[in-house]
Amino acid sequence: MRQRIILHLDMDSFYASVEMHAHPEFRHKPVVIGADPKQGRGRGVVLTCSYEARSFGIRSAMPVSQAFVLCPHAVFLPPDFARYSKVSAGVMTIIRSSGYRFQQVSIDEAFLDISPLGSFPAAASVAEQIQATIAEKLGITCSVGIAQSRLVAKIASDFKKPAGMTVVEPEGTREFLAPLPVRKIPGIGRKAELALFEMGIRTIGDLASYDIRKLGTAFGKGAAALHDTACGIDGSEVEERPHMRSLSREITFETDTDDPGVISMTLDTLAEEVCTALVRENLSCRTLTVKVTISIRVLLFRRGPVTVPGRPSVSGPGNRSLRHGTCQEVVFSFQVLSIYSPATVSKYRYKNP
Ligand SMILES: [Mg+2]
Repeated sequence: MRQRIILHLDMDSFYASVEMHAHPEFRHKPVVIGADPKQGRGRGVVLTCSYEARSFGIRSAMPVSQAFVLCPHAVFLPPDFARYSKVSAGVMTIIRSSGYRFQQVSIDEAFLDISPLGSFPAAASVAEQIQATIAEKLGITCSVGIAQSRLVAKIASDFKKPAGMTVVEPEGTREFLAPLPVRKIPGIGRKAELALFEMGIRTIGDLASYDIRKLGTAFGKGAAALHDTACGIDGSEVEERPHMRSLSREITFETDTDDPGVISMTLDTLAEEVCTALVRENLSCRTLTVKVTISIRVLLFRRGPVTVPGRPSVSGPGNRSLRHGTCQEVVFSFQVLSIYSPATVSKYRYKNP
């Protein structure tokens, strides 16, 4: 079988970088994209922030009120999705024009299957060219991961940010993954992470060497796939445009929240992002899904159903319920059909101004 070489490109703090390029006066300043902080009284969360802002401890999904406390002199900007979509289209055109099999996976991420090149060093030089072209034409940077699977390429692109490149050759895959925290595996959220911690599993290496049968008791049918992931095994292909797909945006809060204002503003912002993406890609949609993850912290200590007036009771594993459900992440997604009908999206917007 031919050696697979997959490249994952991920733009660095995309929204903030686009703003800093459009407004040179913001360069080298802490820039925060998200809700209006209203002098620390604002609700809603940080969508992304510049690396300068990160040095003050600001992170994505943090309440903007907290970001304001950490760095009151930061430049706080509302998101301009139309602008980000336009720059994203430019980025994707550059990546696609490399001529290899291409798949865009979000507004600022894409895969290329560059297996025909046949060598990892050659792949690295293609990646370097793409990075340079994006920087030159659009004034923003991206980080790249190169590996034998989509999974490892994605983990690798996050390894050296910003403007980094990480090449993981097949024989170095397990060694590369082993020391990383399990949370680095795409799809491992706080809930799965906690379950793994309970089993004494902290790193991907711990997971790879864990008894798969014991893993099955906690993760059921998903155990084998999870174990494969920890070993860097992933046969999924880079697909130009799968038949049916979904568009989604999600955010995991820095700290869990039960503030209705923060939750509803976050939902509105995610909805706006997804709607802009639908319009950009000329798509219409069929099913709307809103996923809200409720913290399971209390579950670890409390058994038996407990209901609190005014709060929906939430069932967790083993029929246990939450006493205090605090919101951990919000996902807003559309299952996408094919052709864009402007009426669908504007109707949605109308309902959620
Ligand atoms: Mg990114």
